[in-house]
Amino acid sequence: MRMDQIWRERTTGRLLIVDFKTLAKPDANWGERYAMSDQTHSYVQALTERTHEPVLGIQYEGLLIGTADADLGCQRSPYVTAYAKGQTLSPTYSPGSRVVRLPAEWDDATWQAWLPRPVLESLFCTTEPLLPTTAQLLQTKAATVHAEIQWASLAAEVEADPSKREACIERNPEACLKYGWGHACPYLHLCWSGFEPDADTFTPRVDHHAADPTS
Ligand code: SF4
Repeated sequence: MRMDQIWRERTTGRLLIVDFKTLAKPDANWGERYAMSDQTHSYVQALTERTHEPVLGIQYEGLLIGTADADLGCQRSPYVTAYAKGQTLSPTYSPGSRVVRLPAEWDDATWQAWLPRPVLESLFCTTEPLLPTTAQLLQTKAATVHAEIQWASLAAEVEADPSKREACIERNPEACLKYGWGHACPYLHLCWSGFEPDADTFTPRVDHHAADPTS
């Protein structure tokens, strides 16, 4: 795991993990879902064990980027789009306006003037600090270790005998063609048609965040 930021509270010295997310729009339960997520539990537990200091929890800071607009080729968000009426641009909708992309050549000053504070504040959301109970943290830790051991054992079994792949590896049929043939899962033929991975079509997986042995 790699934490975005760790802050120290000035008055108490407690540590707070701050994690940044982009999202279209927070639903009613987004904070509760993060409170129960593996990320929350594993990060808080890791920081507690690593530092042995009081931990205030983890706080998710959401940056609202709106939904993708295929016609405009960008997100529908005041960061990159405006409502236009004639030559007048506005970050908020009014009847009769149409959505256009913001001019790419705007400088910083124009940008700062573009988004009035209420609009700017509506583009951010926060969970405030989330701190699961110690029992919950240890339960997730135990479950994670258990799952990792199972996966390591399964991977070793399949590597020793690749013919066991289709029998041993769980498939998720609901997801394979969830978004149609144009966006089929890239592993479709491996999972369902007996194809074998080879060096022409697959490369070894590289971690997004390689472990830093010095930290
Ligand atoms: S094709 Fe993709 S989504 Fe379907 S089971 Fe295989 S890995 Fe999962």
